[in-house]
Amino acid sequence: MKFVIIGAGPAGLFAALYLSEKGAQVTILDKGKRVEERKGEKGPDLLHGVGGAGLFSDGKLNYSPDIGTNLPALIGREKTFELMKRVEERFEALGVRARDPREAEVENWIIRAAKEGIRYIPARQAHIGSDKLPEVIGRVEKILEESGVEIRTNEEALEIDPKKHMVKTTRGELHYDALLIAPGRSGAKWLESMVHMLGMDFIYNPVDIGVRVEVPAMVMEEITKVTWDPKVYINTPTYDDIVRTFCVSPYGYVVREKYKNFVLVNGHSRGDRRSENTNFAFLVKVSLTEPLENTNLYGEAIAFEATTIGGGNPIIQRLEDLLMGRRSTGERIGKSFVNPTLKDATPGDIAMALPYRFVKDITEGLEKLNHLIKGVYSAQTLIYAPEIKFHGLRILTNEYLKTNLEDIFVAGDGAGLSRGIVGAAASGILAAMGMAGEKWE
Ligand SMILES: Cc1cc2nc3c(=O)[nH]c(=O)nc-3n(C[C@H](O)[C@H](O)[C@H](O)COP(=O)(O)OP(=O)(O)OC[C@H]3O[C@@H](n4cnc5c(N)ncnc54)[C@H](O)[C@@H]3O)c2cc1C
Repeated sequence: MKFVIIGAGPAGLFAALYLSEKGAQVTILDKGKRVEERKGEKGPDLLHGVGGAGLFSDGKLNYSPDIGTNLPALIGREKTFELMKRVEERFEALGVRARDPREAEVENWIIRAAKEGIRYIPARQAHIGSDKLPEVIGRVEKILEESGVEIRTNEEALEIDPKKHMVKTTRGELHYDALLIAPGRSGAKWLESMVHMLGMDFIYNPVDIGVRVEVPAMVMEEITKVTWDPKVYINTPTYDDIVRTFCVSPYGYVVREKYKNFVLVNGHSRGDRRSENTNFAFLVKVSLTEPLENTNLYGEAIAFEATTIGGGNPIIQRLEDLLMGRRSTGERIGKSFVNPTLKDATPGDIAMALPYRFVKDITEGLEKLNHLIKGVYSAQTLIYAPEIKFHGLRILTNEYLKTNLEDIFVAGDGAGLSRGIVGAAASGILAAMGMAGEKWE
């Protein structure tokens, strides 16, 4: 059997590891470079090559079926957990150990949250660190090569011909018995074009719409010292929506992300510098049915409107002003005890930028969160908008990630199956099982 894998991110690499151990003939191709050659990369190149988008990330690994994966909907939580265990064992063999959250303290937060009607999601986490990641992925590259996997870099897949079982690339044609498409978020547009061209079944993943909240770090300290990136889910009373915390950045910075037609906010913690604040995304998940199923279009329309009202910049508002129904001004922001870490946001009115439903969800969600983390619903709290997470298309598959096309499988973020390193790697293993014709015992 000849297996071809498009994309050498975590999904493609973990699939290749699995298949090569079965003694299969495996070729993995990526339009980017080898690990060694990627050092010092900048701009869009950061997302391409062996190791994929995560090579220069912080390498936070979340081993939880509740985080960064859509597999539970397809195969259930138990099997997802089993796949994540295999990912963890693999990382352990590469020297990356997970740290169990301090059980008693986490348990305490779960109970405290439950008493307030809030779901707190614990996770085993490991942290590779941006300095170590290239070394770890470099070892994977070496293992693959030693086991006979052909790694073809600087080669882009252009088209797929399912009838001929062939991939047309920038360097020629590659024939396969089974094909895995794992092009990541950066290859999602290309995959979308293949979806339409080849008639692959798909749906739109939900989009996450909301804001970034910034508070003094001491407000969050009690919880962030137990879990660096605490994940809580809150039901909102008016709309019965779920609003959740995401990407908590202790002592971090709010940042601006520029896209073609709009700006968004995001946040991160830095190793070299600490602010006095902690920020986190506060997001509402939105799925759409007819007449508009395309969640990307909806999210983009909101992002565009918010950017317009912000004069080309994200909007910043004190929570007090939002609740009082008035815009923030530079002077009012200056009165807040929280010193904003994003300096070029426009003081304004988030109620004019986001639809009412999201503003209501966010204010109600923060009020509830305040019962668990006292101080987040303070008049001084700063809110930035828009923060939107697009998750693109989800390719429809069977329980081994085979698409409706013969011998074509998908895995990872680009296919809408994951949103993180562990989730992508787990989906890579599952697709490899399918390609090798293996079944769960
Ligand atoms: C800055 C940053 C920080 C992050 N931090 C974390 C973190 O701390 N923890 C975490 O869990 N996740 C993190 N992530 C997310 C994580 O990197 C991704 O979820 C993960 O890499 C997805 O894996 P993947 O294999 O699906 O895709 P990718 O890693 O995106 O890999 C896909 C590969 O396919 C290649 N490709 C695309 N199209 C083609 C084509 N047509 N032909 C050939 N090759 C192609 C690309 O070049 C790329 O190398 C971060 C992401 C970024 C950008």
